Amino acid sequence: MTCSLGQGKTTAVMGEGPQNADIMLIGQNPGAEEERKGRPFVGRAGKYLDQVLKASGIKREKVFITNVVKCKTPANRKPMAKEIKDCIPLLMEQIKQIKPRVIVLMGKVAWETPRLKGIKYIETYHPAAAMRFPKARERFEQDFRKLMRQDD
Ligand code: URA
Repeated sequence: MTCSLGQGKTTAVMGEGPQNADIMLIGQNPGAEEERKGRPFVGRAGKYLDQVLKASGIKREKVFITNVVKCKTPANRKPMAKEIKDCIPLLMEQIKQIKPRVIVLMGKVAWETPRLKGIKYIETYHPAAAMRFPKARERFEQDFRKLMRQDD
């Protein structure tokens, strides 16, 4: 790891899912629970995301789930610009290998990732925001329902 977050005893959480997934979900960075388990979105926000996926008829195991930044941040703060910049090449590599049809960018940090041609991008809220704010929740759940209906 080139970034300072990856030094020390932090475990990077690279993401999980099929290498040929049709749908890719991108969050911000793993939290403590994710780091402990080595898996993305397994804490509170992850449980909510699981519910929304299920209600939308999407199987979690068919989706590739990852984050912009692969390491936990101190006190779960927002990743800094330099940390994002250092970690982005890894994400771009994952996108190029998996070549998903659709990428769902969850939250502001994810919205800032560079776009690749031939991939449909959907910008929605981060599940942690959707859990807290009714308006965000409505939009988030609607975006996931739409995801399954898309065949263009
Ligand atoms: N929040 C994120 O952005 N990613 C995770 O993996 C967990 C919580």
